[in-house]
This record gives sequence, C-alpha cells and structure tokens, in this order.
Amino acid sequence: MIDLEDIYRKSGAYLKGHFLLSSKKHSRYYLQSAKVLEDPRVASMLADELAKSIKKNGIKVDIVCSPALGGIIAGYELARSLGVKFIFTERVGGKMTLRRGFEVQKQQSVLICEDIITTGGSALEAAEVIKEQGGKIEAFAALANRGICKREGTSKKPKKECKLPQDIPFFALGDFDFEIYDPNECPMCKDGSSAYKPGSRNN
Ligand code: ZN
Repeated sequence: MIDLEDIYRKSGAYLKGHFLLSSKKHSRYYLQSAKVLEDPRVASMLADELAKSIKKNGIKVDIVCSPALGGIIAGYELARSLGVKFIFTERVGGKMTLRRGFEVQKQQSVLICEDIITTGGSALEAAEVIKEQGGKIEAFAALANRGICKREGTSKKPKKECKLPQDIPFFALGDFDFEIYDPNECPMCKDGSSAYKPGSRNN
C-alpha cells in the first residue's frame, strides 16, 4: 500500500494556508496534484497502483478518458498502465466536449479519470459526453479522493454533495477529508487573515 498523504507532502503538493477554493469556500489545506505529477516516475508509480486495484476488481475498459486539464496526466498514465487508449474532453464556452478527432464506438467501455475527485462534477460531465457517443461508463478513478464521494474498498458513506453515480465503482489511492468553510464561518477569516486563490502566490 502506498501512503498518498506522505507522497503529496514530500512533493510539496499538500499546501497549508488560507485558501479560496473554486467553490468559493475557504480551506486550511489545498492539494496541488500537478506537483506530485511533475515527477514522471511518481506519476507512473501511482498509476500502476491505481491500475492494480481496478484490475483486481475485475474492471476491464477499452478507453480512459479525462476531463482537461487537471485529469490529463493521471489519466494518460493510467491508460498506459492498463494498456488502453487515452482521450480527453475539454470545455468549449463552458460546455464539456470531445474534440481533436477523439471517438468512442458504441458499447465501448470507458473509465473516467481525474487527478482529484471532490464532488465529481467535471468527471460526471465527461461521462455524459461519452454516453452521448454511445460509450459505457465502467468506472471512475482519481489519484486522490477529497472524502465527499465514496471510493471502492472504504465503508464511509458518500456525502450529499457527491455527484458520481452510486452504481458505478470509483477507485482512488487515498482520502483527504479536510474541512472546508463558508466564508462567513471560516475560523481563519475570524482570526483576521484573508483567503487567497491557490496559484496566485507562486503555488
Ligand atoms: Zn477564510
């Protein structure tokens, strides 16, 4: 078993501060998966672990598909490890689409891969695009689970914010179940500091 939290910490990908998330909520922690994946050897090792648990559960797919941009490296490495094709969806004017000549044949089995699953919103949008093409969603996967959705092999119930369908398995290597706050209830705001967007201060 791998210690995902340790890998994130050692890569400088588990940031501590006062963050403004894209959901407008505040958090003391932020996961910067790109920092973990900047070392291709780590990316490949994590993908191999993920592939192992997917295969162990008898899941077979024809294609791995990731929503751009966050999921692309994790998805590509997972596809390599599973020995299947990799494609990605991307937003055009806010709408998730399949471009660049990528195709899914009817009844092909597809796994949707992200770097991190929070509520699973983008993963679900990518899944809808695949289904419109006639593809079948076999599983979801991510390196890390934020603890809102339930991953295979754990007993914790998914929270109501989870958007992933409950009848399709979701694989991840670990959970990062840290708290997020509404701005008016944020303890760090109460202490007088202000939240900042990850990426805006060299992170
Ligand atoms: Zn705050």
